[in-house]
Amino acid sequence: MDQEAVLGLFRQSGALLEGHFKLSSGLHSERYLQSALVLQHAEFAEALGRALAAKTRHFQATVVLSPALGGIVIGQEVGRALGVRAIFAERQDKVLQLRRGFTLEASDRVLIVEDVITTGGSTRETAVVAEASGASVIGAAAIVDRGSDPARLDLPMQTLVRLDVPTYQPEACPLCARGVAVVKPGSRG
Ligand SMILES: [Zn+2]
Repeated sequence: MDQEAVLGLFRQSGALLEGHFKLSSGLHSERYLQSALVLQHAEFAEALGRALAAKTRHFQATVVLSPALGGIVIGQEVGRALGVRAIFAERQDKVLQLRRGFTLEASDRVLIVEDVITTGGSTRETAVVAEASGASVIGAAAIVDRGSDPARLDLPMQTLVRLDVPTYQPEACPLCARGVAVVKPGSRG
């Protein structure tokens, strides 16, 4: 599945919004992604999971680990396509951790799967959860790379789409300068 095919699924699902948006950071942007809108369609989620599995099979993961909530659906699909377990980490007292009886063994080879990688911060945080169990983190995968820094991530990474979304301070925003009305989407994209 190439970049255009993946973006086509986002457009078809109304998940790739083009316009003038105020992000949760306060910055303005011309594009906004809401991957939950793509993943609500089981056939799209399955297709994206298979595509990511094809790009990560060589890592020989024994388990997929995703950060809740955004990574859970695509993590499940990648795990299914790879034929391995899919588990997730979630926050308790602001600290990401394994709950619900999920475990990792020292022999586990962990693939971190998310919907969108932006800075790579949550990917690193999820990797720390796996390493605390003694498991090896062998790579990361996401549907969308929104401008991550591979050096900072320090893990082999596979993504389906690279989308460098320009963001602007409101006072330097070309859309504001043109007088286009700004929209604040419901949650982080
Ligand atoms: Zn603006």
